[in-house]
Amino acid sequence: MIISMGEMLNRAKKEGYGVAAPNVFNRETIEASFLAARKLKAPVILDVASVHGIYECADLARFYAARYPEVPAAVNLDHGGPYEDIMKAIHAGFSSVMIDRSTLTYEENVREVKEIVKAAHAVGVSVEAELGHVGQGDEYEQTRDQGLTKLSEAQSYVKETGIDCLAVAVGTSHGVYKGTPHLEFELLSTLSKEIAIPLVLHGGSGTGDENLAKAVKTGIQKVNLNTDLSEAGKNALRKALADSAPKKDTKATGEFAPKKMNMQQTIVAGAEGFQKVLEHYMQLFDSQNRW
Ligand SMILES: [Zn+2]
Repeated sequence: MIISMGEMLNRAKKEGYGVAAPNVFNRETIEASFLAARKLKAPVILDVASVHGIYECADLARFYAARYPEVPAAVNLDHGGPYEDIMKAIHAGFSSVMIDRSTLTYEENVREVKEIVKAAHAVGVSVEAELGHVGQGDEYEQTRDQGLTKLSEAQSYVKETGIDCLAVAVGTSHGVYKGTPHLEFELLSTLSKEIAIPLVLHGGSGTGDENLAKAVKTGIQKVNLNTDLSEAGKNALRKALADSAPKKDTKATGEFAPKKMNMQQTIVAGAEGFQKVLEHYMQLFDSQNRW
């Protein structure tokens, strides 16, 4: 069943666990996310970037939501940019949109997000927005400190915009870290206590199990995961290809060549690698057996 991300995360905040939000982009990653959630009785948030096809992913999510109705899933636009993309996601049936205006000034950020909140809430779609700025891993050491979320700004931001969940910058980064991730748990703990709505952590990949488990315990309800799942899928795919390739001239030795996998089987093996790591994170965030 596709449900509101706001409601899903309010429940997670009340019960003290985190929800995994894999970046999905095709049939295999969307089905793998449903299968992981079904196996663990965990909620899941499908994060879709507009570049991966808003209408295509919405249709696929609806298809698997009908096939696995017991799975509570939210479909969220990840890092929504142009206004048109955000309206497209709402039109396509997403249950949530994330608006990223974190590089604008505070005032411009509030003005643009507020406008979208009004439209999204009118049709029952929840909104995630970012204050402070989660940067890229390759410039982690240089940009980490300047982007951190400030409590007083966050409090007025939530009040002024009317958003349902807040993406905070507490020391994580997108992609692969250049340097060692160092999280501001004290800041996170304060934000979690002083801000009533659920908090979101972008850049979960490469942050480390210990850091992520502690972040969830300290007050994060949604963890975005892209690179780690993508790498796991790629490695499984690579292994499947290597396993199915003949290793030597089998004709000359009379040995049997390894069984060749066809394209479909290879892609399924990749999706299984993605699913396995996603299940690991769902358990790490203590979201199993919650529904
Ligand atoms: Zn992000």
